[in-house]
Order: sequence, then structure tokens, then C-alpha cells
Amino acid sequence: MFQSILFPVRVILFLVLTRKTGGRKDEMFSAVYPGSFDPITLGHLDIIQRASRIVDRLYVTVFPNINKNPLFTVEERVALLKQSTAHLANVSVEHYDGLLINYAREKRITVVIKGLRAVSDFLTEFQMALMNKKMYPELDTIFMMSAAEYSYLSSSIVREIALLGGCVKGLVPMNVEEKLREKMLQKGGTK
Ligand code: ADP
Repeated sequence: MFQSILFPVRVILFLVLTRKTGGRKDEMFSAVYPGSFDPITLGHLDIIQRASRIVDRLYVTVFPNINKNPLFTVEERVALLKQSTAHLANVSVEHYDGLLINYAREKRITVVIKGLRAVSDFLTEFQMALMNKKMYPELDTIFMMSAAEYSYLSSSIVREIALLGGCVKGLVPMNVEEKLREKMLQKGGTK
């Protein structure tokens, strides 16, 4: 008798608790910061740090860039990003081999964070944001202005400096500086 009363009580309690947890999950504000990060620079890190203060969870995700000839493998880029963001508890580093909209749909993310350096970034970023929105209407892109001191900085300029034997101190995190040095030695170039 007592058992038969307890059963519906347990069922109601279970339903209330699962609804509550579900509700809390839905309230999580997640965003993705996509890029090729070949390698991560201090400009990227500045955006990651600022965005991580706005959202509950930030996914920093490495996407393939078919127009670029990468210096670092995807695994190396992910490892460098993980080391550089280890101090940020709500940042997760991942990689995805496909379209940003498919990644966002799979993860139920509706916000993309992008960094804007100069007017030259604007046209391509604007085109990309509109195309993504056309393919996935729930997806919005939020642009964050680059910090003034990093507005000239790009991964490609870092790669170029390193390949020509220049110093990248103050442009990339220290772990990246070391990895670039190793890479140059492997390539048989200058340090
Ligand atoms: P890059 O253009 O340096 O090769 P990515 O393709 O990895 O970089 O770009 C990832 C995102 O980071 C893009 O939104 C890009 O505009 C942004 N970004 C790149 N460098 C900087 C910087 N120095 N300051 C702010 N945002 C940046």
C-alpha cells in the first residue's frame, strides 16, 4: 500500500528534477569562436579572454581553411590553443572538419564570435556572417573589435616572420614561440 503511494511521488519528483536541470542547461549561453589558428596569436587570445567573460561557455574551434597552406597540423593547433587557454575554465578547445553551421547545429549553438581588425576584415566577415545566417537563420555573429595593439597582427604575418628567421616575441603566447622555433629547426631554417 505504502509502496503504491510512493511510486507516483517518485515519478513526480523525477519529472520535476529533470525539468529543472533541463531548464538550467537551456539557460547556458554558449558561443563558438571559429578560426584556423595557425598558430594562435595574442590577438586571438585577447578576443578569447574578452569573449569568455561574456558567455557561459566558449568553444574555440579549429576549422580547416581550404585557402590556406597550414604550417601546423590540426592536432598541433589544438594543443597550442589548449595550453594557451588553460587558465580560462569556461573555454573548450575542439576541432571540426566541416561547415561552421553544421558544427553549431550539432552543439545547439546560436552565437558566433568573430574578431574584427580593420576595414579589410569587414567585407569577408560580413559576407560570411550573412551566408551563415542564410543557411542557419538562428545563428547570429557577434563582432568584437580587436585590441588596438593587435589590430595589425595575423597568423599569416607571424608565420612569415618565423619562416624568415625573425622574432615573434610579443606577438604569440610563449608556448607558441617555442613551438615555432622547433618547427623552424625541423624545417632546417633559422631559429
Ligand atoms: P588569421 O586571420 O590571423 O589567420 P584566423 O583565420 O584563425 O586568423 O581567424 C580567426 C578569427 O580571429 C577571425 O574572426 C579573425 O578576424 C580573428 N582575428 C585574427 N587575428 C586577430 C587579431 N589580431 N585581433 C582580433 N581578432 C583577430
